[in-house]
Amino acid sequence: MEFSTKLLHGKEAKEYQNGATLPPISQVSAFSYESSEALEKVFQNRAPGFAYTRIGNPTVDAFERRICELEGGVSAVACSSGMAAVTLSLLNILQAGDEVIAGSGLFGGTIDLFGDLKSYGITTRYVQHVSVQEIEPLINEKTKVIFGELIGNPALDVMDVRSVAELAHANGIPLIVDATTATPYLIHPFEYGADIVVHSSSKYINGGGNSISGIIVDGGKFKWDAERYPGMKSYRSYGSLAYTAKLRNGIWRNMGACLAPMNAFLNVVGLETLGLRMERICANARALAEEIARLAREQDEHSGRSKGGCLSVNYPTLNESPYHVLAENQFGGKGGGAILTVRVGSKEKAYQVMDSLKYAKKATNIGDVRTLVIHPASTIYVHASEEQRAAAGVYDDLIRVSVGIEDAKDLIEDFTNAITMVVK
Ligand SMILES: *Cc1c(COP(=O)(O)O)cnc(C)c1O
Repeated sequence: MEFSTKLLHGKEAKEYQNGATLPPISQVSAFSYESSEALEKVFQNRAPGFAYTRIGNPTVDAFERRICELEGGVSAVACSSGMAAVTLSLLNILQAGDEVIAGSGLFGGTIDLFGDLKSYGITTRYVQHVSVQEIEPLINEKTKVIFGELIGNPALDVMDVRSVAELAHANGIPLIVDATTATPYLIHPFEYGADIVVHSSSKYINGGGNSISGIIVDGGKFKWDAERYPGMKSYRSYGSLAYTAKLRNGIWRNMGACLAPMNAFLNVVGLETLGLRMERICANARALAEEIARLAREQDEHSGRSKGGCLSVNYPTLNESPYHVLAENQFGGKGGGAILTVRVGSKEKAYQVMDSLKYAKKATNIGDVRTLVIHPASTIYVHASEEQRAAAGVYDDLIRVSVGIEDAKDLIEDFTNAITMVVK
């Protein structure tokens, strides 16, 4: 079954009660049982069923099953937000004294989280790019996880998942990838050796920009060494489900960052058009990036500069990107995602371009059906230090574009007009 067919006809996209084609919204907090004994069994995981929505809910379960099937994992756990998913995926295996190796170009919220974890004794060591060469020298006996994003946002660097996973496994360390920007449309990270996949499903999976949520998917293959991960010791009997069993019975349910049933429903609705949207979004993003690249070359020629005028564009599959070969191979030629960045010479010019756009909305989100723009340096990265910003590729003249499903012709016209008016 191909990707979009699977979204509609996969094993987990089953018909629900009364032939409902979508999971009914179980908007309840608790579930009652005929007998006290029956409730006891459900509570103690000795019988299937639901007891309390923080611990499990049929609508949330339907969403988790669909994502799990799509990613090819063994289990998925939905969370109230992408940040909750990132946080809990890590806290499930970390303890004071442990070290994380992560990319410095991570999503701003994740960088902030690693800052928060310092006071709990968890240290993060950063690499500019999540690659074998940069990670290897930082690995020591305290390293408990390697964490990276598939397509950095806004640096737009691409992780070579296979090689990083091989290095991680050779050292007995799991690789957790935040696959939000790539989506299951571009890649199934488990096939490349990733151990845990997290998504901010607020973005492309939901697709309509109508609810915040996240999900943790377990590939089920990592061999948890009980010496290295003492918390996993009592979950060894769960075999390939050990990580998820610990998560569900521990930090996830106790932190209480559960997904609301209504939001799970909205995600299932959105998920069914993920293939259609991503196909369009990737085609639009590439077309727009190529047009802006052409404009930049034209300006350089016109002004007699050899290269490197004040207009430039970055997109993973552009020939100019150092990652274009990797992106084309790893994403099977399906595209380079929805995000491109444009540099226009100064913050003032960036604001002028953004304010001249007819269609793109100024908003801090990605993965909406609408095209969105933002100036990361003054918004998402405003809490970051100068060095952090530089390491994340957040320049003062940089605009991040999250491309939507509008007609490419309109988008190209809109951006061309705004850019040529401001950048000369
Ligand atoms: C948005 C985002 C997050 C955080 O997700 P929320 O749903 O906003 O909490 C994490 N990682 C990446 C790559 C994101 O884009």
